[in-house]
Amino acid sequence: MPTFVIAEKCDGCKGQDKTACMYICPHDLMYLDKDKMKAQNQEPDQCWECYSCVKICPQQAIEARPYADFVPMGGTSIPMRSSDSIMWTIKFRDGKLKRFKFPIRTTPEGSIKAYEGKPDPSDTDLSSHNLFTEPGVELPKIS
Ligand code: SF4
Ligand code: SF4
Repeated sequence: MPTFVIAEKCDGCKGQDKTACMYICPHDLMYLDKDKMKAQNQEPDQCWECYSCVKICPQQAIEARPYADFVPMGGTSIPMRSSDSIMWTIKFRDGKLKRFKFPIRTTPEGSIKAYEGKPDPSDTDLSSHNLFTEPGVELPKIS
C-alpha cells in the first residue's frame, strides 16, 4: 500500500524549498502544498513502498501500510531512525505492540570515505565491462 501523510503531524519541513520527503523519494512522488504547508504523495499508484520517506520524516508524519507477510492486515509498522539505529514498532490489530531495534552503522555519521585508496576513474572506464573497483579479470573493452 502506498504512503500517506498524516496532515496533523506534517509541518512542511518548516517551509524549506525541498522537504525531507521530497528529497529522499526515488520516484519523485512527494509534493508540498505551500499554501497549507502540508506534504502529500501526489501519485500513490506509483509508490514503491520503499519506506524511505517514512524513515526520513522528522515528524513521523508519513505512514505506509505494511505488507501482509510481515504485519497482519490492519496493523502498522512504524520506523524511528536515530543516528546509529532504527527502531521498528509493529502494532497488531488487537493493539499488541512489538518493538525491534537494529544498529544501522558502526562508524560516526559522515566519517565514511567510500573512495579512499581507490584509483581515480578515467575516461576509458566508460567502455569497460567491469564495475568501478571490480577486482579480477580485465574484460575486453566495449567497442
Ligand atoms: S518530511 Fe514529513 S514533515 Fe517534512 S514535509 Fe514531508 S511529511 Fe511533512
Ligand atoms: S515509500 Fe518510497 S516510493 Fe513511496 S513515496 Fe515514500 S519514498 Fe517515494
